[in-house]
Amino acid sequence: MKAVCFSGVMKVETCQLPDPQLETPSDAIIRITTAGLCGSDLHPYYGREKGIDLGTVMGHEFVGEVIAVGAEVSNYQVGDRVCAPFTTNCGNCPACQSGLTARCTGGGQLFGWREGGIGLHGGQAERVRVPLADATLMRIPDGLTDDVAILLGDNLTTAYFATDLAAVSPDQTVAVIGCGTVGLLAIQWCLSRGAKTVFALEPNPHRREMAAHLGALTASTHQQLCSLMRQHTTNLGVDSVLEFVGLPDAQRTAYEVLRPGGTLATIGCHCTPNFTFSPADAYDKNLTYRTGRCPARFYMESVHRESVERDLDLSWCVTHRFTIDQGQHAYDIFANRQDGCIKAVFTL
Ligand SMILES: [Zn+2]
Ligand SMILES: [Zn+2]
Repeated sequence: MKAVCFSGVMKVETCQLPDPQLETPSDAIIRITTAGLCGSDLHPYYGREKGIDLGTVMGHEFVGEVIAVGAEVSNYQVGDRVCAPFTTNCGNCPACQSGLTARCTGGGQLFGWREGGIGLHGGQAERVRVPLADATLMRIPDGLTDDVAILLGDNLTTAYFATDLAAVSPDQTVAVIGCGTVGLLAIQWCLSRGAKTVFALEPNPHRREMAAHLGALTASTHQQLCSLMRQHTTNLGVDSVLEFVGLPDAQRTAYEVLRPGGTLATIGCHCTPNFTFSPADAYDKNLTYRTGRCPARFYMESVHRESVERDLDLSWCVTHRFTIDQGQHAYDIFANRQDGCIKAVFTL
């Protein structure tokens, strides 16, 4: 099969690999029809997250059709159209049972991460092996397109999770820091959950335009955001901040624009060891800090249902399509946000 493989910092390569085979009785093999490129793929790509093996198949967002199942798989059959969250999960361990599927201790693994020969290949490929298939996969409801199903395993659920962490509720004011696909989707969730005003901070003009189109008041710099907030709030800051960037400056901005007693939800994956605000700063603001990897599998069905009930328009998300042979080209366009790229997918 063909697959987009990690081949060094800022390098991927479309390689020819042996087709994955069933390795354990809980496995399923999926023939992929659509695979997503995600901001998290850029952490290993840029070398910010170190340790990934050369030759690892990239990606953790995929939609496809079951083509083989192990002896223990009872929920899925050959021919089923499925999608998956970005991690596998067992469904039975205490973490899974409490809804924290992304922290499964029963063998849960991240797709697209192999280190020292151990781990799972990813979904930017013609085929992928899915261990713990019964608990990990989700059957795609009739009528749901690949372009929407690809969002369920990560971007749409993660955006929803952020609004849950921040307890976004009617009449609140919210600031969204960082408007990649997840930040933009979070704007939609906040407004559909009744938020009064959503401010969005994003330096990229195309993404800022989309944020405005989705209903946010937008700013390109910290200073602009502050003056915008002074015009539109009577309070000392916003009720909640959703931070999707994962860099120190973004965290500092998030802290500064939050009102006393507000909630800061951090979804951006921070790779530096220190906070940009101190425990005393947190105390002085009576703030609530919430963070963590989205337990996507726990949310997938309910998020899909709610997106249908709330009639969320998701048609804007996928802006770019590539073939699997265009691996490096796709990463170049996506990583550099060229040509108005928001969400890129491989179509197989
Ligand atoms: Zn992702
Ligand atoms: Zn588990």
